[in-house]
Amino acid sequence: MVTRHPTKYLGEEYQRLVRENLNWELKVLESASGPTCIVNGKEVIMLCANNYLNLATHPKVVNAMIEATKKYGAGAGSDRSIAGNMALHEELDRRLAKFKNAPASLTFQTGFMANEGTIPQLADRGDLFVSDELNHGSIIDGVRLSHADRAIFKHKDMEDLARVMEEAEKHDPPYKHIWILTDGVFSMDGDLAPLPEIVKIAKEHGAGVYVDDAHGEGVLGEGGRGIVNHFHLGRDEVHVEMGTFSKAFGVIGGHITGSEDLRNFTFNKARSWLLSGAVPPGVAAACIAAIDVLETEPQHVRRVWENRNHLLDGFKDAGFDTGNTETPIIPVMCGKSKKAKDLADYLWSKGIFVLPIFYPMVPREKARIRVQVCAKHTVEQLDKALETFKEGGRNLGII
Ligand SMILES: *Cc1c(COP(=O)(O)O)cnc(C)c1O
Repeated sequence: MVTRHPTKYLGEEYQRLVRENLNWELKVLESASGPTCIVNGKEVIMLCANNYLNLATHPKVVNAMIEATKKYGAGAGSDRSIAGNMALHEELDRRLAKFKNAPASLTFQTGFMANEGTIPQLADRGDLFVSDELNHGSIIDGVRLSHADRAIFKHKDMEDLARVMEEAEKHDPPYKHIWILTDGVFSMDGDLAPLPEIVKIAKEHGAGVYVDDAHGEGVLGEGGRGIVNHFHLGRDEVHVEMGTFSKAFGVIGGHITGSEDLRNFTFNKARSWLLSGAVPPGVAAACIAAIDVLETEPQHVRRVWENRNHLLDGFKDAGFDTGNTETPIIPVMCGKSKKAKDLADYLWSKGIFVLPIFYPMVPREKARIRVQVCAKHTVEQLDKALETFKEGGRNLGII
């Protein structure tokens, strides 16, 4: 008698998620992503998009996508490794490296694929990955795909990192290669990795440094050049700067940036790059146009910081705890999960779209609303959001 059932557990698991209130309820965006949007048929102020500079709707970016699509077609026809490596992809690689003032970049289909494809190739048996405990899931998955040993250090805790590295030196036989992996901007708290200190510790041990700057690109550094520029670090100090075109750049795609050796190594090894289709030419052209915009229109980066400072000051004046944010990601701490959900529901009912973040994404007592601001929000929109936060926060006893 076979008791096995091929798929029954799918429904059971989904029902468990629903019972425990851990399921995603997908909201439907019915307009372009902008400072205000139509979501589930309702006009809302958008405060949870990654489109920090509003480049998703920038005319130069949109037109570049249309023109390249007309000229080169909807798809690249192949993987880049075979017959889909268009001149536009090569141009994007070069333009990004130039923007980042680095010898070379290699662009991927997404940031997730850049991490998942690159990381497991960097270290093998006899090597070690050392990872911040709050690193993004794509780093975690990349590490899991490798045969290297792994060690975790406490979030941004440099004493703990030094301890882990000392421990690693006792390994017998000695590790051949050690990589320290960290997010640049941590996406739940908006805080920055202490990259100069990480670099210093890495140097003492001859370790590589890999930073995932998904939320820092287009936001940090001169003209949005990212975290390596922000901290004035060299390419021989941060060996891999990984990033994405799906956040501030407003399109989609990922990259790794560093030495020529890194690029040549990676496109010969990373399976997500070798065995998956190239991004459409329109996407590559739109990403190039986004770099153009960053190089020629510095006002967008300036505006997102002005808006972020206005909103952060408003939250602080109202008595909200906003954690340790250093970026346009602002966590508004609520305590228990239910408070964050109730506040998000209240805000939604008043036309403010934000994301509640709770266990298991963050510790149980650290539920929060994650607010993300963009360059095109008006002061009126931000003030309306602040007023609504204050009403909701007072009703729920958060402030
Ligand atoms: C969003 C994100 C990614 C994934 O980037 P995509 O281009 O959206 O796949 C990777 N790492 C971090 C830290 C991110 O926030």
